[in-house]
Amino acid sequence: MDILFASETEKAEFWLPLLQRALPQDRFFVGEERSCDVALLATPPAGTLARLKGVKLIQSLWMGVDKLLADPEYPRGVPLARLIDPGMVAAMSESVLAHVLDWHRHHDRYRAQQARSEWRRFKQYLASDRTIGILGLGELGSDAARKLAALGFRVAGYSRRPKQLAGVQSFTDLDAMLPLCNALVCLLPLTPSTRGIVNGKNLALLKPHSCVINVARGGHVVVGDLLKSLDSGHLGHAYLDVFDSEPLPPASPLWKHPGVTITPHSAALTEPRTAIAKIVENVERVRRGETPLYLVDFDAGY
Ligand code: NDP
Repeated sequence: MDILFASETEKAEFWLPLLQRALPQDRFFVGEERSCDVALLATPPAGTLARLKGVKLIQSLWMGVDKLLADPEYPRGVPLARLIDPGMVAAMSESVLAHVLDWHRHHDRYRAQQARSEWRRFKQYLASDRTIGILGLGELGSDAARKLAALGFRVAGYSRRPKQLAGVQSFTDLDAMLPLCNALVCLLPLTPSTRGIVNGKNLALLKPHSCVINVARGGHVVVGDLLKSLDSGHLGHAYLDVFDSEPLPPASPLWKHPGVTITPHSAALTEPRTAIAKIVENVERVRRGETPLYLVDFDAGY
């Protein structure tokens, strides 16, 4: 089969030798204007999608597909598969645990004190004193939920459909979940119904001095509302990995805010060593004429 690799963020020179070794009978190419059977895409150069009518599968190299879906040139009728990369899932849970523990053990506040040479202890909480709310209990949210529960945190999770996960209280009603939460982790896909979900109304429902961790997409957070909540003291800290405009512009008030910790969309990077097997699995399915795994539901938008 002919397989196109097109990405402005993922490095072809890194991926192609791994892909070629895993799929020796297939022909890989980058960016040329010729037809293909499968396209492997993440942030493809402008005009790429318009050329993919009739392709058997577009395989995303990322877990989030909001950018591909938002592109008006997406070729209607071509199936789109998400990449469910075990290395990326593990990395995301590590990032979530790191932020939850940073806040839970007051390290955010101790860092601020250190800058003032100040020696003062804060009250200790047990993990079981804290409820961590997770928006989205999909591939990423459910793994983070399981690992937080294993550390002894109470875990609540919000999804469209109810879930049965050991140690996780499942909610489909956000207003019922938020008042229980000391920390809120956003791991939702960005869709019209989740855009702006971390807003003033919802932040006000959290327990006082909570933390917010957004590792999903910038569009989930209403930044003005978040800053107001931090400035009022209601929100204790915000860990932000993703932004509406990336890189985050130097003029953004988020950079210098003492209540905000910023990471550069690095909570979980695609890990070729674990992702290749998943891509191979879907390419082989296409070759055999079978339905690929992890297809996006275009109506739901994720
Ligand atoms: P999944 O599609 O596996 O899970 C999505 C979850 O969100 C599901 O539980 C789903 O509910 C729930 N959901 C979707 N819409 C709604 C809604 N309107 N109301 C309530 N719940 C909703 O996604 P993943 O876990 O794989 O990934 C989540 C997001 O993480 C990605 O879309 C991407 O944007 C982001 N991401 C960020 C990275 C980073 O480095 N910062 C890296 C990788 C991903 P249900 O189960 O009922 O369908």
